Amino acid sequence: MLSWPAPLLPTLPGTGPVLKVHDTSRGEVVATSPGSTARMYVCGITPYDATHLGHAATYLAFDLVNRVWRDAGHAVHYVQNVTDIDDPLLERADRDSEDWIVLGMRETALFREDMTALRVLPPEDYVGAVESIPRIVAHIEDLLTDGLAYVLDDGTGDIYHDVSQAPGFGAESRYDEATMLGFFAERGGDPDRAGKRQPLDPMLWRGERPGEPSWPGPRGQAGRPGWHIECATIALDTIGMGFDVQGGGSDLVFPHHEYSAVHAEALTATKPFARAYVHAAMIGLDGEKMSKSRGNLVFVSRLRGDGVDPMAIRLALLSGHYRTDRAWTADLLSAAEERLALWQRAVALGSGAPAAPLLAGLRERLSDDLDSPGAIALVDDWAARTLAGDPEAEDEAPRIVCDAIDALLGVALDSCPRASALGDRG
Ligand code: ZN
Repeated sequence: MLSWPAPLLPTLPGTGPVLKVHDTSRGEVVATSPGSTARMYVCGITPYDATHLGHAATYLAFDLVNRVWRDAGHAVHYVQNVTDIDDPLLERADRDSEDWIVLGMRETALFREDMTALRVLPPEDYVGAVESIPRIVAHIEDLLTDGLAYVLDDGTGDIYHDVSQAPGFGAESRYDEATMLGFFAERGGDPDRAGKRQPLDPMLWRGERPGEPSWPGPRGQAGRPGWHIECATIALDTIGMGFDVQGGGSDLVFPHHEYSAVHAEALTATKPFARAYVHAAMIGLDGEKMSKSRGNLVFVSRLRGDGVDPMAIRLALLSGHYRTDRAWTADLLSAAEERLALWQRAVALGSGAPAAPLLAGLRERLSDDLDSPGAIALVDDWAARTLAGDPEAEDEAPRIVCDAIDALLGVALDSCPRASALGDRG
C-alpha cells in the first residue's frame, strides 16, 4: 500500500542516548537495544471512520520512538498495517449502503492526509490485510498441519488456534484467565462459542458467510482472515521475529497483541515475537474514553478543516505523557496554540538562549520513556529566557533549537531562520 510522504528530518549535532520505554510484558521501563536497524511494528487503523485524537495520540507516541532512535544513530524499519477487511468495516459499509472497498480506500486516504499534516514519519512498509491474504492462508495451513489449529466442526469453516498448545500464552499481557475472558468478550472475541476447545481460542479464519466478501482459504475453505493472524503475518513478512517494539493503544494489550505474539511464536517455534510491547494510553472526552461505540469522537480532519494548526494538535497531544490516560479539552488546545505562538516568537529573534543545554535536555527527557511533557517544559523555559533577553544569547541558537524541536518533537515552526527550513545543516 502507498504510505505517506516523509517530512524533512533535520540532522542534529552529536547523537542521542539509548531509548528506554515501558514494556507491558515485563511491567517496567527497559532499555531498547536495537542493532544498526531498529525494527518497530505499530498496529494500524481499520479504515471505516476518520482518524480521531485517540488514534493520533498513539501514532504520535510511536513517532517519538522513531525519532529518538534515528537521533541515536539507528536506521529504523517501521511497519504499520491497515485492517482493510474486518467486521466493523463491513458493518459500517452496510449501514451506509456503501461499497466496503470504497469506504476503506477513502478513510485510508484521509488517514494518510492526517498523518502527513501531523508530520508523522511514515512507515517503510504500509501493508493491507487484503493484499496479505495469500501469506496469511499459508500460515494458517502451517498451523493446521502442525496440529496447532483446528477447523470448527459445525460446517462454518471457521478455524481457531488451540492456545492450550501455546506455552507463551499470557506472557505479553500477564493477565489472569478471568481478566482475559472479560477483555476477550468485550473486544471482539467469542469465549462462549460452542465447539471450541478452549473459551480463549482465537479465530484465525472466518469461513464464508452469505453476503460477505471472501477469498480462497486454508483447506479450500473460502472466507476471510482474523485480525491477529493478519498482524503476525505482516510482521513476519517484513521485520521478522524478535523485533524491538510492538506498539499500539492500550486497548490492544489483550487480546490483540497477546494473540499476534502467540500466532507468530507458534509459526516460527521461536520467541519472542517482540522484545518490548509498548502501549499508548487513551484520550478521553467529557470524562469518557474516546471511542466509536460512545460516539464521542474528535476527528483530526475536522479540526484541520476548522483551521486548527496541526502543529497545535500535535503539541496538545504531546503535552501529556503517552502512558497517562488524559482528556481532550478546548483549554488543552488553546494552551497548545499559545505555546506554539510563544515558541514562534522566540525562534524568530536574531539570537537566543544557549541551544546546547536544551538539545541535551530534550534528548535526555525523550529517551527516558518518551517524557514529552518534560521535553516541552524545557522548550518553554528556553523560549521564556530568549524572549526575556538572555545575557548569554547566541546567534546560532534559534536555528539549532528549531532543528531540535523539529527532529525530536516533530514540531515544525514556520518562523524559523531560513537555513533550517532548507535543511542544509551538516
Ligand atoms: Zn495489530
